[in-house]
Amino acid sequence: MAESVLVIGGGIIGLSCAWEAAKRGFRVTILEKDTFGGQASGAAAGMLAPFSENTESPDPFFRLCLDSFFLYPSWVHEVEEASGRRVELCRSGSLNVAFHEADLLPMHTRLAWQQTYGVPCEMLSELELRRLEPELSQQAIGALYCPGESHVFAPLLVDALMEVCSKVGVRLIPHAGQLTKLEAGASSGVSVTMTDAGSWHADRVVVCTGAWSGLLEKWFPLTLPVHPIRGQICSFDGTLGDIRHMVFSSQAYWVGKNDGSLVCGASEDVAGFDRSVTERGINRLTKWSGRVFPFLQGSPPQRSWAGLRPATRDGWPLIGCVPGITEVILASGHYRNGILLSPVTAAMVGDLLEGKAESYNNAFRVDRFSRTAERTGSG
Ligand SMILES: Cc1cc2nc3c(=O)[nH]c(=O)nc-3n(C[C@H](O)[C@H](O)[C@H](O)COP(=O)(O)OP(=O)(O)OC[C@H]3O[C@@H](n4cnc5c(N)ncnc54)[C@H](O)[C@@H]3O)c2cc1C
Repeated sequence: MAESVLVIGGGIIGLSCAWEAAKRGFRVTILEKDTFGGQASGAAAGMLAPFSENTESPDPFFRLCLDSFFLYPSWVHEVEEASGRRVELCRSGSLNVAFHEADLLPMHTRLAWQQTYGVPCEMLSELELRRLEPELSQQAIGALYCPGESHVFAPLLVDALMEVCSKVGVRLIPHAGQLTKLEAGASSGVSVTMTDAGSWHADRVVVCTGAWSGLLEKWFPLTLPVHPIRGQICSFDGTLGDIRHMVFSSQAYWVGKNDGSLVCGASEDVAGFDRSVTERGINRLTKWSGRVFPFLQGSPPQRSWAGLRPATRDGWPLIGCVPGITEVILASGHYRNGILLSPVTAAMVGDLLEGKAESYNNAFRVDRFSRTAERTGSG
């Protein structure tokens, strides 16, 4: 009989890993505390922007983002074909807009290394920028343009992944409640108990609990510094403007969706597990929306919401087996880029389930904080 896998957490990472595992022949069940996609994954702007999100250097995290970005079109095609649903993948391109001369130099530095990665990027003059995005403020003096960057409608992607999971026989268990037991390591698989879904046993478990992953530290011989970083985000519905690209400024970003809405995100604040929006947070986005797109001046957004990004101490995800307890795989801490990183994370987890050690990427090893703690002698 095929090996069984329990996936804990039904956000985009858990759903993607579950689908991948099922396609590779595992018998898969996902246990979700509340509702599938009800946390960060359903709140996300859906940008697939490895270049705009990685401005410093071509480090392993940038390369992970890029690998996933290249996987995306065929992965989405497969999701759409298998689910019969559309996830609105839109290759809008992105504009990183400069408002001051001082913004331009770092953009040129970025361009120098980013354009060697097989995706065209270029600097635009003020005139060229105006032609591409006429609604932008006259204060904009140029932009770094990356025509390949794209976005999806994240809630639709979650729905489509739920559908494909069901179709390949994944059992989806919502409202499973709190995890009260996780026992592994006795070479007899893994036992899990959830307050509202009882006890489960499987050969392997994949932990995809997003911003809540740090709370699971007690079950593992690991330091898991995963913390919630709240992102407040809002939407101008049925805007009169015609925003053609994803637009990034130093203060916010804007993404035009197929339904005519313009999504503006996102704050980064520490508020524990509080997902409420604040007047201050949304006012800041509203103010910047009016500055960057003058037609929005004085228009309050119609909708606002928030989600909790799962952030690790170094901002990079944790993807790998727990040392000494290889039945347990972690896939968490995707912070600002979990939508982008879903296909590559699923592929890595699929390989780990199949024991393909060559796909293991040391940069994202799950015990990297525990090892630092040992070396420095700090807790
Ligand atoms: C405002 C905002 C905008 C964003 N925009 C983008 C973007 O444009 N592009 C991008 O790539 N990323 C974006 N992100 C980041 C992205 O949303 C996250 O990185 C991604 O959703 C993380 O997915 P996840 O499945 O790990 O976490 P989540 O979606 O939070 O899912 C984790 C799930 O685990 C469940 N859970 C927790 N504990 C337990 C337990 N003990 N037992 C069972 N279930 C449990 C939770 O209920 C939850 O459903 C954004 C995030 C926010 C908040």
